[in-house]
Amino acid sequence: MMPLLEVEDLRVAYGKIEAVKGISFTVEAGQVVTLIGTNGAGKTTTLRTISGLLKPLAGKITFDGEVINDIGAHKIVARGIAHSPEGRRIFPRLTITENLQLGAFLRKDAAGIQEDIERAYTLFPILGERRSQAAGTLSGGEQQMLAMGRALMSRPKLLMLDEPSMGLSPIMMQKIMETITELKGQGTTILLVEQNAQAALSLADHGHVMEIGTIALSGTGQELMHDESVRKAYLGED
Ligand code: ATP
Repeated sequence: MMPLLEVEDLRVAYGKIEAVKGISFTVEAGQVVTLIGTNGAGKTTTLRTISGLLKPLAGKITFDGEVINDIGAHKIVARGIAHSPEGRRIFPRLTITENLQLGAFLRKDAAGIQEDIERAYTLFPILGERRSQAAGTLSGGEQQMLAMGRALMSRPKLLMLDEPSMGLSPIMMQKIMETITELKGQGTTILLVEQNAQAALSLADHGHVMEIGTIALSGTGQELMHDESVRKAYLGED
């Protein structure tokens, strides 16, 4: 079967600095694939390039059978890729419901949108309780939930999450990871960037370890979790 997303020999540079130096990986429909690695490895750059926010220097990105390198961020959303960015960029002055509605900006089916807003409130009950409140009043973890909920509002074929656990308490982080597992159970295809390697690998079908712009190691989530070099470098063992 053809993968839903195929990244081939992707290179991305900021001026003269090559942040991504020729990486290749695939995401099959229904899978959770994770990119792990230290700060500056190129994970965020990879997601931003798939989203069309950055232009690749070289390489090919194929999504759902079509090359999407050069079609622009709006069209990429329309093709079915949603991106929940690092640092949860929600709109603090808008209400929670309004933030969710913005995630559906390309859709015209009012009834379907309403249905999906209710689904987001089922997935994240705390958001439902506060639906008319300004989003800026939410805690960090709740804002992360809102960012994920908003990304889901485009009914994506692929959901890309950039460090959803960043800055969260262990309990909030666990809640977010449980939600990702729940979405996976519903058949959502997810590309997850995480610094928390343990959490990401424990729920991922496949993982790739990024090191300074390259993929240093790939395997199933379980394989990488038990790999000695990964355990030493990323799981805090010596
Ligand atoms: P983090 O977890 O810290 O976000 P990352 O793996 O996502 O790390 P990137 O954010 O993709 O890494 O950064 C990869 C490299 O590109 C780093 O060396 C970074 O300094 C550089 N970089 C990122 N954004 C820019 C930019 N706008 N201009 C110049 N260099 C950048």
